[in-house]
Parts: sequence; C-alpha cells; structure tokens
Amino acid sequence: MQENNFVRIKNCRLCKSEKLTPFIDFGKVSLGNDLQENKKKALESEKYPLVINKCNFCDHFQLGVSVNPQKLYATNYTYLSGIGNSFVKHLENYANWAFKEFQLSSENLVLDIGSNDGTCLKFFKNLGCRVLGIDPAKIPSDIANKNKIPTINEFFSSSLVDKILIEYGQVDFITSHNVLAHIEDIDLVFKNIYKLLKINSYFVFEIGYFPSVLKTGCFDTTYHEHLDYHHAKPLASFLTSIGFEVVDFIENKVQGGSLRTIVKKSQNPNLSISAMRFLEKESRSIITNTEFLNSWNSNIKDSMKSFEQKVKKLVNSGLKGAGYGVPTKATLILELGKLSQHFIPFIVEDNNNKIGRFLPSTGIPILPVSEINVQKPDFIVIFAWNFADDIIEKLSRIVSWKCRFIIPLPEYKEVSF
Ligand SMILES: [Zn+2]
Repeated sequence: MQENNFVRIKNCRLCKSEKLTPFIDFGKVSLGNDLQENKKKALESEKYPLVINKCNFCDHFQLGVSVNPQKLYATNYTYLSGIGNSFVKHLENYANWAFKEFQLSSENLVLDIGSNDGTCLKFFKNLGCRVLGIDPAKIPSDIANKNKIPTINEFFSSSLVDKILIEYGQVDFITSHNVLAHIEDIDLVFKNIYKLLKINSYFVFEIGYFPSVLKTGCFDTTYHEHLDYHHAKPLASFLTSIGFEVVDFIENKVQGGSLRTIVKKSQNPNLSISAMRFLEKESRSIITNTEFLNSWNSNIKDSMKSFEQKVKKLVNSGLKGAGYGVPTKATLILELGKLSQHFIPFIVEDNNNKIGRFLPSTGIPILPVSEINVQKPDFIVIFAWNFADDIIEKLSRIVSWKCRFIIPLPEYKEVSF
C-alpha cells in the first residue's frame, strides 16, 4: 500500500544521470508534518524511506524517494513563516536589500513562489511594490489573503503560469525562500519561472546550503519535503541549461546555512565572474573532501546515540521531561533518538494550528506553552533548536523552578536555570 504514496527517484533531478549512490540512509521515518488529530491515528502513521543519494555525474545530493505531494502538503501542513522572529527579520532585511539592489518600484510586480502566510511579500508591499503569492498550503494562504496579501492557493503548475501571464503579464521580480528543495518537477518549475519573467529581470531564491549542513552536522533539515540538498556546482550547470545567467551566489547563516542564488533572464546564459569565484571557493570546501563525506554518516549516528543516552539518563534518574517546538525536524530527532512519550511526555508549541494534535509515530501530544507552568518539567528539549535563543529567552520568563534546557544540535548543549 505504501508504494502508492511514494516513488523512487531513479534519475538525478538536475542532470538526469542514472548513476546515483546512497550517501546517508535514515531508514523509514514518519512525515515530519503529518500531525494527527488523535493518538491512535498518530501511532499508526505511515513511514517512508529517508535516504540521501549523490549523483556520480554532477555531484547533486537528493532524496532517494519522492512522497506524493498531496500526502505531504494537503491537509496537515502547518508551517507558518510569520512565527519565528529571527526569520521574519531576515525576510524584512531581504526585501529591503532586493528593493534597492534590483531597483524595484511601485510599478513592479513581485511574485513569491511558496509565499506561505505572506510574511515576505508584506515587506515588499510596504515598500510600495505590487505583490502576488502562490502557495499550495491552505492555512497559510488563507492567513495571507486575510492580511490583504493576494495569494493563489495552488501548486505552481504550467496552467497556473499561463493564467498569471494572461491576468498580469510577465513579472518584474520573482523570489522564493526555502521552497525549491520541495518541488517535484524542478525542471518544469524553473522553465516556468523563466517563462514568467520579463527579459533582463531577476529571480532570487534562497535554499538550504548543503555544505553548511555537512559542516555543522545539522542533518535534521533532511526530511521528505526536501527533495534536494543543494550546492552551487550542480545548480550552476542546471540553471544555465535552462537559459538563466547566474549572477551570484551568496552564503548566509539563516536556517542553519542558506545559499542565496541570483539569476537573470538574459540573452547570455553564462556564469558571472562573481559566480565563478564562488564555485572556485566551493570546489576547495568539504563538499569535495571524500574522507570527510565518508565519516559524516557515522558521526551523525554517534551524536544521535549520545543525545538518546543523555535524555534517557535524565528520565531514568527520575527527572520529568518535555519538549519545545514541533518543527518538521522534531520527528526525525525523536525517531533517531528513539525517544517515545515515556521520555518526552508532551511538547509545547506557539503555533495554534499544531496545538491539540499528536506527533506521528510517537503519539506525543502537542500542548500550549502554558502547560510548562502546569507540569513544571525538570528539563525541556528544544526541538526548534535553530530558534533556541528566542525560546530560552521566552522560557526564562516562565520557568521559576530548577530546570535545564537541552539544545540537541548542532552540538548537544544544556543550559541550566
Ligand atoms: Zn546529476
């Protein structure tokens, strides 16, 4: 039955080569966003293979299977970009930067692919641009429309592109944040973006940068929604093959390490000097270090084993645990750490759409943050560890008893209060 809900990826998603070699295999894992209404359903939730393959031809890293997008996003997708303060600030800075850098004005239409709750477009709108969002997830799209950020609640398909061309014409600036690794037919999406853009206009997208993941060991951005684990080299060949000029790659620290890629629809689908310089630097990084890549796998497994032992030791010594935050990655961390509800009785969340639901496979309930004050746990594992500073600051105002906060990644850390 499960085979109907996913397909094995047999050709490289960027260069179509059939020569794919497994890089890391996490076994079968539940879908990180498959939060359920009741515990019974949660305990029965389906698991899917989670393996990253590497293309022997272009070196692109990618998942070994693709789960049916209807299954992945349709009903239970509850991520809202407006929730994390530091990410909102990043999007605001980004909009200000792009507005100046690309000399945008009130005449211009800015399109955001995977616009979520409209957080990024809101900043472009405040700067005076016309905006349009596209997102297949219903809850965030509804929020955006309610906040007067026009958003089409659909997948970015060829028919939608034709509809936009008829209704709005070609677009002046296209952007996208942490979405393009989610896309099923990446070839078609980039061709459609090319078609939608005006000549000499820019498409700027941000994606997780895999060398940062490798460097920091933050493997927990591996989940079924993320089909691609990008670095610049395979991406550059792919983008020029579509017809884009690759203007620049800029690395930043957002979400554990991201790559901002600037491309232009021009008559000259080449690499700029600055893009070539980046590629040269990348070719000397860990992404080409075979020894490092080979040991990465066992390092991850050792660090999760140690996380498991430390948490279990706390519980076995009589301490009461809890968790904070249910990002997609929480499911993988729990599964690799073999932590059942016995060890983490509940996890609290700020996102109302997740409260009251249960995590897949473990059946751990998601409760409001106020529950911390009721249960008074002795330790709290921060699953949304990339927002650990924001969360610890918030918790320090709530917790008045002896409690330790555990940050599982990038390196296990305990902060005591
Ligand atoms: Zn390839």
